[in-house]
Amino acid sequence: MGEIILGKIILKGKIKLKTGLHIGAQTEAIEIGGVDNPILKDPNTGMPYIPGSSLKGKLRSLFEKDKINDYPPELRGPPPKDEKDKSKYFLNRNIGTSSNPIWIHVHEEYDTAKTCEICRLFGSSGKTNYPSRTIFRDAHLINEKSLEEVIEIKTETAIDRITSAANPRPMERVVPGAEFEFEIVYNIENQDEKREDIKNLISLMKTLEDDYLGGSGSRGYGKVEFRITKVVERSREYYLKGEAERELLSSESGLRPEEAVSQIMEAL
Ligand SMILES: [Zn+2]
Repeated sequence: MGEIILGKIILKGKIKLKTGLHIGAQTEAIEIGGVDNPILKDPNTGMPYIPGSSLKGKLRSLFEKDKINDYPPELRGPPPKDEKDKSKYFLNRNIGTSSNPIWIHVHEEYDTAKTCEICRLFGSSGKTNYPSRTIFRDAHLINEKSLEEVIEIKTETAIDRITSAANPRPMERVVPGAEFEFEIVYNIENQDEKREDIKNLISLMKTLEDDYLGGSGSRGYGKVEFRITKVVERSREYYLKGEAERELLSSESGLRPEEAVSQIMEAL
């Protein structure tokens, strides 16, 4: 099963850090006087990077937070225990345990996932799996040389809310000013939906700028800015017959998401 891929739209650009970024590596030890809270690093270069899965997960959750408002309050979920038809609730799937549930939005059936703006972009793993139309590559650091240091240690003081004891703990983070290059590949499965999907995708970047990436967002970490540098459309013929790609946007310094959207919509 699966849709025929009619082509691809490839978006490239930069993610600039406006504040420090902490994307944790493995388990984050939260202990008194605990060890460093290390950030994720590329094992080959030792440099920090933004995993594609982090970016995808964050954009998906922002989209879900937005779309939940389209549902009447009583269906914003999770469904009550005795409810047989869970599908009408927005948050309808428990991926946690019964004592510690984590409710997410999915569609049980392929055909309904296909009609959902969220699941079209990000996929849905119901009874039948609907694969996402987007692929997020890992975003690697591109301006290492212009930074005095790439990683800094910031000491965060967590206050124990019961005893008021201060627990200083060092946190690793990528310094503000660091820039990462991202690449997102969108598979065109339906020519009528590509404009809407791309518009949603770029609008979510704008939303993320007013939210945060990685951990400790409530303490000011993870404020980012997007610049879109290149968007191309490649048809099936591009892959099969060597036809040229179509350039939808090209800007060396990069366009802000809102500028990029209007330009791409005009070209698409
Ligand atoms: Zn959905």
